Amino acid sequence: MTNTNCLEDIRCPKCGQEDRFFITGCAQFEVTDDGSEAVGGHEWDDESSTRCPGCGHDAPLKDFRVRPDLPPDPEGKNDDHAAWAGAAVARFIEVTATDEEDALGDLLADLMHWSDRNNYDFDAALDRARLHYEAETTPESSP
Ligand SMILES: [Zn+2]
Repeated sequence: MTNTNCLEDIRCPKCGQEDRFFITGCAQFEVTDDGSEAVGGHEWDDESSTRCPGCGHDAPLKDFRVRPDLPPDPEGKNDDHAAWAGAAVARFIEVTATDEEDALGDLLADLMHWSDRNNYDFDAALDRARLHYEAETTPESSP
């Protein structure tokens, strides 16, 4: 789904979810001794605390903006690919309690150990992954 309104260019950088977020904003209330009532609308900005209900990632809204420097996506599926990997990394962090900044390297090292114990050729799989990535990020008009 591509958002074109309130969530245009907003996507969870961890899991790729883009349908729903919890954003802490500001609103004005008329308060009397009897209670309160919202007056007017509400607002938020790029510094507003934002949480992804998909994976729990919590950061300022600006961190959820889609980065403009992503490689080409000729098949329009790279968000899905990233989201699937994001789910795996999120689960890895959950199981191992590793720091987020170390998760990718730790996961790759653990996959090397897993490959040793399950008769897989990690280097061959990594070569295959690079070929897939190159195909998925090369514009179709390129030779
Ligand atoms: Zn998320």
